[in-house]
Amino acid sequence: MNASWSARSDKVFIGTYNRFPVMMVKGEGVRLWDADDREYMDFLSGIAVCALGHCHPKVVEAITRQAQSLIHVSNLFHIKPQIELAELLVRHSFAEKVFFANSGAEANEAAIKLARIHSKPGRYEIISLAGSFHGRTLATVAATAQEKFHKGFEPIPKGFVYADFGSPKHVEALISEKTCAILCEPVQGEGGVRPMETEYLKGLRELCDQHGILLIYDEIQCGLGRTGTLFAHEQSGVFPDIMTSAKGLGGGLPIGAMLTTDEIAASMTVGTHASTFGGNPVAAASAVAVMEEILAPGFLESVQDKSRYFISRLELLAEQFPHLATGARGRGLLLGLVLTDQGIQHGAEIVEQMFKRGVLMNFAANLVLRFIPPLIVTHEDIDMVIEQLKEVMKNF
Ligand code: PLP
Repeated sequence: MNASWSARSDKVFIGTYNRFPVMMVKGEGVRLWDADDREYMDFLSGIAVCALGHCHPKVVEAITRQAQSLIHVSNLFHIKPQIELAELLVRHSFAEKVFFANSGAEANEAAIKLARIHSKPGRYEIISLAGSFHGRTLATVAATAQEKFHKGFEPIPKGFVYADFGSPKHVEALISEKTCAILCEPVQGEGGVRPMETEYLKGLRELCDQHGILLIYDEIQCGLGRTGTLFAHEQSGVFPDIMTSAKGLGGGLPIGAMLTTDEIAASMTVGTHASTFGGNPVAAASAVAVMEEILAPGFLESVQDKSRYFISRLELLAEQFPHLATGARGRGLLLGLVLTDQGIQHGAEIVEQMFKRGVLMNFAANLVLRFIPPLIVTHEDIDMVIEQLKEVMKNF
């Protein structure tokens, strides 16, 4: 990259990001190119955003078409692509009603507000799970059961308590007359690619039903086809009362959604919540194109097929490098190679060396090498990444 861009960037930005030392200028499918025309295989997808890859023709077309007729109008008016998107979400989920926001954190904020306003006075507490990640606004930081995200921002908003990951018993012990909901990711992404087993989800659902509290799924990272079904929880058959979506939904444009049932939605009335940009026409049109593509016959089956293939390759790698990795975990194309204690020492360096070889991936929660390629990735792309990973792992 022209060094002056990096210097200009450092000069003007608050240092919240540890950026790779390159500037990406072009994307197509699974590939990105930097300002020096160097090519990268993108197994990060803008952190699970570009589900259809970069600049998918149908997404580009939908954005262009919408931008030519109407870019913004306030939510004081009915908005065609927004209605179409909400109808698609309702038709293909447990939900009957939708609220649009601009990001994952904002969708979760809406879910937190809905859970509170729907519950009896005095019931405001939400139980979340260790290792979770729900966003960076103050309430969603509070919902995130990881101390490192709270540090320095105290006082953290009240009303959140944290259960160990893995057992409904730990959750049950935290339920009180103040509890209004349990919030969880069916597959934790930032927490190290950790799926919640069906029995675990069933246990939480039962607790919610017994105690009259709401089950909220954060499917911001694991939803929208990422795990091989439109929403990850479909695989367990355990349904929530409220669900949030974002990331992959907009095909790269910012949009978030909070979904729920008619009965619960009735608690949010005019004036209780709003967003200037939420469900913006261009973002919504892009999201409709994304959903139509993901729902096209054979698409999700192909994600499942590539997932099986990728998992088998990762398992093979773990066998070849037992001192570094123990095996694969995750669902669909939200996958992690779980590292041993020794492997963990080298996780960051492995990512760095893969970057130098033109492969983008990351080290999640300092535990697993995480792979979140666009859902249109091919077997050949997966082979290429595995080959590079093999070469890199030989160095440790
Ligand atoms: N929830 C989950 C599960 C996420 O993975 C993320 C982002 O990584 C968020 C919420 C926050 O989304 P956003 O960055 O769009 O606010």
